[in-house]
Amino acid sequence: MRPFDYIIPKDHAEASALLAEGSGAARAFQGGTDLLIRVRGGFIRPERVVDLKSLPGMQEIRLGKDGWLVIGAACTMNQVAIHPLVRERYDLLAQGTASVASYQLRNRATIGGNCCNASPAADTAPPLFCLDTIVELYGPGGVRRLPIADFYVGPGRTALQRGEFLTSIHLPPSPTGAQGVYNKLGRTKVGDIAVMSVAVYAWPAATQSGLTWRIALGAVGPTPLRAPEAETALAADISPAGVVAAAQLAAGASRPIDDIRASAAYRRDMVRVLARRGIEKVLDLTGLRDLSGLGGAA
Ligand SMILES: Cc1cc2nc3c(=O)[nH]c(=O)nc-3n(C[C@H](O)[C@H](O)[C@H](O)COP(=O)(O)OP(=O)(O)OC[C@H]3O[C@@H](n4cnc5c(N)ncnc54)[C@H](O)[C@@H]3O)c2cc1C
Repeated sequence: MRPFDYIIPKDHAEASALLAEGSGAARAFQGGTDLLIRVRGGFIRPERVVDLKSLPGMQEIRLGKDGWLVIGAACTMNQVAIHPLVRERYDLLAQGTASVASYQLRNRATIGGNCCNASPAADTAPPLFCLDTIVELYGPGGVRRLPIADFYVGPGRTALQRGEFLTSIHLPPSPTGAQGVYNKLGRTKVGDIAVMSVAVYAWPAATQSGLTWRIALGAVGPTPLRAPEAETALAADISPAGVVAAAQLAAGASRPIDDIRASAAYRRDMVRVLARRGIEKVLDLTGLRDLSGLGGAA
């Protein structure tokens, strides 16, 4: 591996300055599970790697006074997956983080690194999209916040500007009775990057169907995607025919490509299948499955 300087900054300002200085050959570093593989493969050649893990708040999970959950960007997948507040109030995110690779890798890989790597297949992304997440960035201009959907710009590209880094992930209070399901298809049952994935999330509300819905898709577009037409359809109709139609609309929202892991056509069809399963499971969890007319049918 090409040598590089490894630096632990003492505070946010120093970290930002180190990332901004010079020819731009500096890289933020947390778990290194994406970064070091890319360096070893010669895809990137950083002269300087800035380890952000020890900065204040980066490894903390705390409930803010406003009821929002704040997750430091350097929290590991396992730390997030087993945290009592995450499990109790944001189980959808616990499912996403727990589905990443192996237990050993989850002890190293961080939630912030997963976001900043900006893979459309990132397993934290569909849950974070459904949960209306806000990300907080620190940079030369100070602190700014963005909705997660604006943070993902393209494959491997984020809204981060020169000298900026992700400090934390902010989740709004979860609505009473909210339920979510993350369904991931890999080439192997565990430990593989998603061929595609679907997160489904709903909570009781004054809609025609009694629920407000969020559906987000992974690995079927240049960034993770929401499926707004499917969400709107489910707010109006959760009958068996309505669920089938919404799953089809979710498939229609996908923009997959052919690659070594799957064809575009297979991915799109699997969105339809996993979206339907996710919707039915959420209806089970909310206790509305019988009212929807789906009964016990699988
Ligand atoms: C064997 C293997 C299996 C994997 N399986 C999965 C899987 O199933 N699902 C999945 O989603 N991912 C998977 N991954 C990918 C990877 O583990 C995740 O993307 C991981 O969460 C990245 O976090 P990290 O802390 O290791 O990031 P790093 O490697 O440290 O950084 C990743 C990128 O983000 C930048 N960065 C890191 N932190 C910040 C910050 N705070 N601000 C700005 N930029 C930052 C880095 O410069 C780098 O470009 C797998 C990886 C491996 C090696």
